[in-house]
Amino acid sequence: MTARAAKDKRGRVFLVGAGPGAADLITLRGADVLSRADVIIYDNLISAELLRLAPAAAELIYAGKRGGSDKSIEQADLNAMLVEHARKGSVVVRLKGGDPFIFGRGGEEAEALARAQVAFEVVPGVTSAIAGPAFAGVPLTHREHGSFVAFVTGHEDESKGARSTVPWDELVAATRRGGTIVILMATARMRATLERIGAAGLPAETPAVAVQWATTAAQKTVSATLATLADESVREGIGAPAVIVVGECAGLREHLKWVERTPLFGRMIVITRARTAVSAFATALTRLGAEVVEFPTIETAPPRSYTALDRAIKRIDSFDWIIFTSAMGVESLVERMKSRGRDIRDLGRASIAAIGPATAARLADYALRVKAVPDEYRAEQIIPAIGIKRIRGKCFLIPRAEVAREALPEILRAKGAKEVVVAPAYRTIKPKRAQVDRMRESLASGKIDLVTFTSSSTVTNFCELIGTSGKGIKAAAIGPITAATAEEREFEVVVRPAKYTIEALTESIREHFQLKQK
Ligand code: SAH
Repeated sequence: MTARAAKDKRGRVFLVGAGPGAADLITLRGADVLSRADVIIYDNLISAELLRLAPAAAELIYAGKRGGSDKSIEQADLNAMLVEHARKGSVVVRLKGGDPFIFGRGGEEAEALARAQVAFEVVPGVTSAIAGPAFAGVPLTHREHGSFVAFVTGHEDESKGARSTVPWDELVAATRRGGTIVILMATARMRATLERIGAAGLPAETPAVAVQWATTAAQKTVSATLATLADESVREGIGAPAVIVVGECAGLREHLKWVERTPLFGRMIVITRARTAVSAFATALTRLGAEVVEFPTIETAPPRSYTALDRAIKRIDSFDWIIFTSAMGVESLVERMKSRGRDIRDLGRASIAAIGPATAARLADYALRVKAVPDEYRAEQIIPAIGIKRIRGKCFLIPRAEVAREALPEILRAKGAKEVVVAPAYRTIKPKRAQVDRMRESLASGKIDLVTFTSSSTVTNFCELIGTSGKGIKAAAIGPITAATAEEREFEVVVRPAKYTIEALTESIREHFQLKQK
């Protein structure tokens, strides 16, 4: 087989269900296919976090539309695009919200592929029709309240002369005997749809629930009855995307609602550290029910000059210790060594110390064994971790950010180190001002419950970006130095973990809000 033929054989389309919103509700198979894709054509409502599973080289094509207003790719063009990329030999992932075959034209896309004789596979997803009710605490079937469930579109407009293809009368007749109706695309015509159901004979007091942005941190749920849901939804500002559940089962929500009981439900928490390092923290807070706003105040770039680092790399085997103060420091040194044609084994002679578990973890990624790790984010802790006897007369290299606290080199020198070389390996920069206005607004309107700081520079940068002090803003600080900086800037520091790690910070945040609730 020629290379060309092999490539053609590889080309195929995966119709993948992304799940209802929360990134971790994709299937294992879906995640695997995503991680192998050459081209990803995705809809709106797809979480940005999922797209991060794609290989760096993958081509990402946005096909989404919102309420039909934005320019979006026509269905026929989209079908043609799927065919074309697959014929070029690409692994194409057509990433669709929820399940690809539940309302969303997945069926039509599969038909087009079949017609064009392009190989395709379907990876089912957790549909919002199931996840929405689940996250609202509504079981769709129940031995006493419902023996069937129907997924219905709320999008069809009967008033335009055309008869709806939804058999409302029959559906309602069946539902009266015990069943559940789930309506998708429900908001634009909510009132008309609920009235139609009422006109078909479902009692006005039948329980009805609307859930918007289900499974995401922005989830909002309204419980009412068939007669009152439209008004209640308007009052609560429910808009798309939402699903509606009508039937006796919907009444079980009052006992079974659980999302609202998660410890950080309804809390809006700001994360200020760099986005590359953010996701574990963001995920942990989201799991606890918080709405996380990422507002990275620090991003990294190469240092203004590599002179010091290059000089250190040249004599790398003369150091007794290399102390890394951040994961970025590890990455920067290794990358720079690579680009200078050095071998990682050239580090062989030096013992390695890492400040903080994240730094140690990054070293482990490179199979570099760490001799000393203070398990707290504090430079001072490095002395007992290394052992005072192993400092005197020794040579140290600290590859770190261009601007950093002087404490560490000073302590080492004070303890008798022969030489301490501080080499700027990267530079922290403030990101573009894109989100600044929105953050200012959220702060002014009191929507933000907590701003988290993981270093003094995140505090300083945050204030400089926003252009105010921290007056009236509640803050969480990872350690005492960060807390002191935050207090200098007039933040009210309400969360201070006893251990200076992200895990401890997360736990302290949970405790803080739980105590407040009582
Ligand atoms: N294939 C998708 C549905 C596509 S139609 C699925 O299986 O979920 C789009 C509709 O899905 C929206 O109008 C809304 O009714 C529903 N929807 C999608 N995501 C949702 C979410 N996170 N919360 C509530 N409804 C959602």
